[in-house]
Amino acid sequence: MIICPSCNGPHLEGLRFQHRSICDFYNPEAQTQAADHERFRANRGRPVTRDATETEILLLEALGEIDPDHDAVAIRVTFHGAIWHRTIPTEETQENL
Ligand SMILES: [Zn+2]
Repeated sequence: MIICPSCNGPHLEGLRFQHRSICDFYNPEAQTQAADHERFRANRGRPVTRDATETEILLLEALGEIDPDHDAVAIRVTFHGAIWHRTIPTEETQENL
């Protein structure tokens, strides 16, 4: 079972974990989500690609999606309904930007 490396909260899906309010990642993740909302709106509802945050890097490492000696990691952000989706872009998704 994959858990948050900071608060041991359970993994939900993608980069979403059920963080406890005392989790070191809770506030950074909330701030990232708010910033992504603004980026998404500024991009007129189209997916946004940006650099991963330090917190996202730690979560991706916990998920085994990136190696510890990874290069820079990009994150593709979309909102479907009210749900925040973050993925590492593939060549296919990049073409759809
Ligand atoms: Zn956590």
